[in-house]
Amino acid sequence: MEQTLSIIKPDAVAKGVIGKILDRFESNGLKIAAMKKVQLSRQDAEAFYAVHAARPFFNDLVDFMVSGPVVITVLEGENAILKNRDLMGATNPKEAAPGTIRADFAENIDANAVHGSDSAENAAIEIAFFFSGREIS
Ligand code: UDP
Repeated sequence: MEQTLSIIKPDAVAKGVIGKILDRFESNGLKIAAMKKVQLSRQDAEAFYAVHAARPFFNDLVDFMVSGPVVITVLEGENAILKNRDLMGATNPKEAAPGTIRADFAENIDANAVHGSDSAENAAIEIAFFFSGREIS
């Protein structure tokens, strides 16, 4: 069984669609192995997105990620990383396939409802960033 990290971003939490997004995961064979609702600090957001530190949108991305609480989950299932990326849809919601989370719940490329790990290596790093072993079951 594979695990991946998902974040329901501040725009989706503010919109009140936490339950609808979690239902997409559970209805598509992804078990919620860990979950918490957190207000990220700037330091958290900068460290989590360190890979994007040189990108022009980095400061706006950090501002956005600390603009309100997020819901962080570990999702578990067969091909969980790819399955979650398929359920999320393209980074830009205008390009996201119909029926995907970003097509249905995201406004634009900055406020795009969800994060999902993009590789096994990043999934392991991102899960360890937010959860200890005893929080995952
Ligand atoms: N992002 C942005 N502007 C851009 C590209 C990306 O604000 O032009 C943000 C967006 O929130 C995205 C995140 O940076 O989800 C990470 O970008 P990545 O390319 O890794 O997309 P993802 O893996 O989230 O689809």
